Amino acid sequence: MYMQPQQYPPRGYEMHPHHNPHPPPPMPHPSMMQHHQYQQQQQVMTRPPIPESIPPSSQSQEVSGNQCDFCLGDEYENKKTHKSEELITCKDCSRSAHPTCLNFNPNMLLSVKKYNWQCMECKTCSICGNSENDSQLLFCDDCDRGYHFYCLQPPLSKAPEGDWRCKLCVTQFGELQEN
Ligand SMILES: [Zn+2]
Ligand SMILES: [Zn+2]
Ligand SMILES: [Zn+2]
Ligand SMILES: [Zn+2]
Repeated sequence: MYMQPQQYPPRGYEMHPHHNPHPPPPMPHPSMMQHHQYQQQQQVMTRPPIPESIPPSSQSQEVSGNQCDFCLGDEYENKKTHKSEELITCKDCSRSAHPTCLNFNPNMLLSVKKYNWQCMECKTCSICGNSENDSQLLFCDDCDRGYHFYCLQPPLSKAPEGDWRCKLCVTQFGELQEN
């Protein structure tokens, strides 16, 4: 009898998160870089290359936009799950977060990629576009959009118990199942 040896594909190799907290910026004078095209001497970075062509020096302390506001990880590593995870970014303040750090469900994950998501602090009503009376702002459990109770048709007088699904999401995912 012939037993074939188990083959292990070299998977997970590139997933290994290197610890590289804050690489110091290689050049103290950013003004010099505009003149001088940044020399490609920093090719051997400990991270995988970033798709957009951002020179490594420009992301020293400027972390907004590519760091999760909650776990302080990035798209390569969610510090809570220790997995790579796409970040979503608020259209107003440009702060980013991992969907799992925001406790998003799978429907929300789908939905937030289809519109200009706003974080909790920037959230406005999807109907009137206003952020006032945020105590009366209701959030859809499937897309995270905000709605004033009084802007809804028909208006609500108080927060519904349990999950609530906005009209857009009813169209997308169907009526919420009673449990
Ligand atoms: Zn996170
Ligand atoms: Zn925001
Ligand atoms: Zn409103
Ligand atoms: Zn919704």
